[in-house]
Amino acid sequence: MASPDFDVCIIGYGPVGASLANLLGQSGLKTVVLERESSAYHLPRAVALDGEGMRLIQTMGLADELLPRLDVSRNIRHVSADGKLLLLLTRSGIGPEGWNNAYRFYQPELESVLRGGVSRFPSVDVRARSDVYALDERDDEVRVRYENLASGTLAEVTGRYVIGCDGARSTVRRFMGAALQDLRSHERWIVLDMVLEQPPAGVPEAADETGRVIDAIQYCDPARPTTFIPMPGKRHRWEFMLMPHDDPATIIQPERIYELLKPWNIDPVKSTIERAVVYTFHSALSTKWRRGRLLLAGDSAHQMPPFLGQGMCSGLRDAGNLAWKLRDVIAGNALDSLLDTYESERTEHVRAYIELAVELGSVIQTTDPEKARQRDRDLIANPTMLRPLAPRLGPGLHGDASPPAATRAAQPRLTDGKLLDDYVGYRFAVLATRHLVDALPAATQARIGGTNAVLIAAEGEGAAYLADLRAGAVVIRPDRYILGVASTPAELDAVLSRRRCHPAATSIAQRTPQTAAAI
Ligand SMILES: Cc1cc2nc3c(=O)[nH]c(=O)nc-3n(C[C@H](O)[C@H](O)[C@H](O)COP(=O)(O)OP(=O)(O)OC[C@H]3O[C@@H](n4cnc5c(N)ncnc54)[C@H](O)[C@@H]3O)c2cc1C
Repeated sequence: MASPDFDVCIIGYGPVGASLANLLGQSGLKTVVLERESSAYHLPRAVALDGEGMRLIQTMGLADELLPRLDVSRNIRHVSADGKLLLLLTRSGIGPEGWNNAYRFYQPELESVLRGGVSRFPSVDVRARSDVYALDERDDEVRVRYENLASGTLAEVTGRYVIGCDGARSTVRRFMGAALQDLRSHERWIVLDMVLEQPPAGVPEAADETGRVIDAIQYCDPARPTTFIPMPGKRHRWEFMLMPHDDPATIIQPERIYELLKPWNIDPVKSTIERAVVYTFHSALSTKWRRGRLLLAGDSAHQMPPFLGQGMCSGLRDAGNLAWKLRDVIAGNALDSLLDTYESERTEHVRAYIELAVELGSVIQTTDPEKARQRDRDLIANPTMLRPLAPRLGPGLHGDASPPAATRAAQPRLTDGKLLDDYVGYRFAVLATRHLVDALPAATQARIGGTNAVLIAAEGEGAAYLADLRAGAVVIRPDRYILGVASTPAELDAVLSRRRCHPAATSIAQRTPQTAAAI
């Protein structure tokens, strides 16, 4: 039987499909991307990118391209109707990922960087105006049928695996027979991107020492919950909760928009309404992420209200978790069961973000004045500072190992100033003390080499990181989650054997580690 046309068929070329296409392109997989639209989504959506997302973009080799288009974030301030601080989500500073904890961006610019990245890979074929309408799963491949909207003709391709990055109303999810678990938050909001010639009035507490507005503000006003977010350049985002008396059809007309903006004193002559739309913010989780050769990633698998800025970031994590597993399974370096760990690891992780976003939403979206007064009294009496969440992966490759397994690995700098991941690439890394590296028996060295991991003898920041972990070695996965830590060669062997889905983990290959450098 002829082999499939492609290793992987990605359906949907939003930020998640484009991220996956970059990682698969880097991995040399023959990939096709089918996208219904002719260009990137034109309505306002994501504005916040966290340090983990930025590190994934670094892995794609696109950090230098994206950085000039980003602003660094500091805090999200939640204030009462009379301006008192209720909650502070602090995001300032460089975090353990080696990047700032949070950035702000303009989604079309991010998508254009991601799409530009994909064009580096001749093995990735992007077909716009291709509307997928049927999937037929067979033993060795999936037949994907689509309409070429440009010519009005029907076409098809075959792929070993199909990944539905096709957004909230996913066709792939329906073909998988997966239901959406409703996490019960579905509020309507007006989302507005403005270009301002002069900064808005009335937000001095959100400005830095130069007067530039850098904090986002969540106005927990029961009369109209509102979000304000400064964006790069002259752009500013407002989100207004739709109230029962609003007419959704007319509320996005310019005269109504400028009425909503009155508290910020926005001059229509010195401003432009770039985009305005009414969205329903859903919260939902797919009951299945994989069925055979069909998998989901991004909004097709999970949706959450944007109060934490984590919807797309969670989709980027999906791409980071999935691409190396596809690569290893398709190359025959891992058993197909490795792909089952994708759903089990990701689903509980993203649930933690959805639940917190829904909880924050219930604080922000209180419209009963008495309940709002009580909320304000409680929160002012108990000032709360929320740091970025750092959930563990759900059960997966790490088995029942205790933390730090399944948590994020830090990204130390090498002694030559390079960041660790730039050195490792999208591969496993074993970061170990010089003492442990010198003590590694040949068999363990061969096991590391056989699983295409990079062995690094830690110095400087790397050694300090191992001391923090109280470990002689840490095994870091390509998506930068910790597989496990070890203090002896035997423990390191045991951690490496957690890659139990890898045939190489059980039969030691006769290769030596690719690299043993000092950092
Ligand atoms: C107002 C708002 C603010 C937000 N703010 C943030 C934020 O600050 N930070 C954050 O991380 N997230 C945020 N999000 C969430 C974020 O925008 C989404 O999670 C993200 O865009 C989802 O990306 P995706 O690639 O999974 O799906 P999408 O961007 O929806 O892409 C899906 C693609 O699939 C294509 N497609 C669908 N069906 C088919 C088919 N049958 N055939 C071919 N193509 C198909 C579609 O045309 C589309 O291009 C926000 C969302 C909203 C609404």
